[in-house]
Amino acid sequence: MPVDQAVPPAAPEEADHNRHQDQRDPFIVANLDVLASRHQAFCQALPRVTPFYAVKCNNSPNVLRVLAALGTGFDCASQMELEQVLSLGVAPSRIIYANPCKPIYHIRFAAYHGVQLMTFDCEEELIKVAQHHPGARLVIRLWTQDSNSTFPLSTKFGAKLELCEHLLKSARDLGLAVVGVSFHVGSDCHSPHSFTQAIEDCRHVFEMARGVGHDMSLLDIGGGFPGAEGSESRFEEIAKLINACLARDFPERSGVKVIAEPGRFYAESVSMAAVNIIAKKAVLEPGGQRKLLYYLNEGHYGIFRLFLRQPVFRAPIVVKELCSDPPLFPCTLYGPTCDSFDKLFLEEVKLPELDVGDWLVFSSMGAYTSVMSSSFNGFLPASIFYAVGPELRSLLEPAPEAGTCPVWRGCRPSFAAQTISDSPSLQTVLPDYGVSRTN
Ligand code: PLP
Repeated sequence: MPVDQAVPPAAPEEADHNRHQDQRDPFIVANLDVLASRHQAFCQALPRVTPFYAVKCNNSPNVLRVLAALGTGFDCASQMELEQVLSLGVAPSRIIYANPCKPIYHIRFAAYHGVQLMTFDCEEELIKVAQHHPGARLVIRLWTQDSNSTFPLSTKFGAKLELCEHLLKSARDLGLAVVGVSFHVGSDCHSPHSFTQAIEDCRHVFEMARGVGHDMSLLDIGGGFPGAEGSESRFEEIAKLINACLARDFPERSGVKVIAEPGRFYAESVSMAAVNIIAKKAVLEPGGQRKLLYYLNEGHYGIFRLFLRQPVFRAPIVVKELCSDPPLFPCTLYGPTCDSFDKLFLEEVKLPELDVGDWLVFSSMGAYTSVMSSSFNGFLPASIFYAVGPELRSLLEPAPEAGTCPVWRGCRPSFAAQTISDSPSLQTVLPDYGVSRTN
């Protein structure tokens, strides 16, 4: 096209308008009914344990509203998380401020709003709490063996067993009440034994604490329960062992209240994410092998922040009509920013030949995804569309607005049908839930 006939670039307002209208923007569908069923599964498998949902995992207002309505407690890690939960009308007694290393200002906020339960794992924290929240009901966070978890935490948090007696005495000498013990075996735990060892260690800490004069009544078994679709049997195995350990070390007659801080168990399987291929390069390797680079509109600085730390490849569903056995190519999946670190996986993955405009769908994307998104390089966090069935809808006032899934617009019904039948989360999300297909 000659230059003088070229279409002029859109005016800024128009360009901005187009950005919000782009049918190929990444998006997330969160099925709140799945969240409710996770709560039911947790309570059934661990009847002695009261869940205090870990807000850090997914703090979307609708997720928190559902859990508040279902009666869970909450684990908050900062003033902002405390504010978010308190603003839903949740009583301060249903909150544990479970960050062992807290800014003074946030401790004062908790004190002012009557949040009493809080964790600590060192002497310096006790000194701050004695000064700024002397009425706190403290929970000592114990170090655990977490090498069998995908995301270990113990290099950063937890007092070693041999240090606990000293800390418990220091708390007493400062006039502080220690009421319980907590631990966290690391997120996405693969070893039920980590829980059993930790619960046994907690019993020793209870004895120590009572020995120095604390009135102990709370055991907090933390998070770490697996949450992705397909991890149900691993969770059941962990739950069985925990129940047996509780019966041995903290029997019901002991009167000890047991709580947990599950995050990913509740949230991970709630959401799926659809991302679009925005650019593509084909490269010929020295041996003649064809390799593909796909550039997606979501990446490491968005919802895939944790993927680079996961050892297991999370295969996407390809939304494209393909022959029954398409050739696969080694592919690198890059995010949209200019940073070369912005990719989904360290290793190459095998995928069919795809094109700009094609969709990839990832399941189990509800935990540590949107909450970690940034707008680095001007790429905004993916929109979230909520699906909610009639039963749960009646619990929520006002009900969340049903969204529409832009992926279905302009995409041939057979692609959509194939994707739905491949993905249990999509099957449940579609027509019954008010998330409508628009083609
Ligand atoms: N509690 C604390 C103190 C945490 O740091 C975390 C996660 O980092 C959680 C609970 C939630 O863990 P998960 O998502 O593995 O259940």
